[in-house]
Amino acid sequence: MTTAVRWPASARYEDAESNAPGGLGFVQDLLNTASLGKPRQADLLDSVESARQWLDSSFAVLHQVDPGAPAAPDDLDADGLRHVLSLRDDLRTVLSAHPPEGPPSGAVAVSVPSIETTAAVTLGAGGARLRPQGAGVEAVRSYTLIQLVAASYGGTLRRLKVCANPRCRGAFYDRSKNCSRVWHDVSTCGNTQNVRAYRARLKERGLSSAQ
Ligand SMILES: [Zn+2]
Repeated sequence: MTTAVRWPASARYEDAESNAPGGLGFVQDLLNTASLGKPRQADLLDSVESARQWLDSSFAVLHQVDPGAPAAPDDLDADGLRHVLSLRDDLRTVLSAHPPEGPPSGAVAVSVPSIETTAAVTLGAGGARLRPQGAGVEAVRSYTLIQLVAASYGGTLRRLKVCANPRCRGAFYDRSKNCSRVWHDVSTCGNTQNVRAYRARLKERGLSSAQ
């Protein structure tokens, strides 16, 4: 089960039950640095200073759940922040692209970016491993994508979701048995209006049901 850790960005929106396990929790925390939820929280990547603070606290949690994770970038500048922001935006687009019901059967108008990085692969006594490459922000990017690849192979990637409320878009980890959650919090985001809008979007994409 989940280690009771408190991811600094995600804790603003949801309880530890909705935290993704291990290093995937960092990916979720990165997504949740955005100004999301209701009431709206500040964007933790709004400035280099606040981004540094978030990186320090999020990496402190990350090293509790994954001692082998790379070090937090200690020299983040405006250029590095731009890279972190574009990674966050691209990740949200990729994770939002497919509704939980599976890939749409009709044509989809969403353009999904392809996020690339480098990683080292080793096979030895400890088994097969992917290790992040690069330094600073590039290592963060590499580590992030490794977590997503590992989750994809482990079958847990489909549980890392972006809230279906377009005004929220918070990331959550769906632990429900049939992996059917679409709202990060049904009481704040799953209201009748949002459900109706969500069903209409699915219909546009060529899907027939919303549950
Ligand atoms: Zn939500």
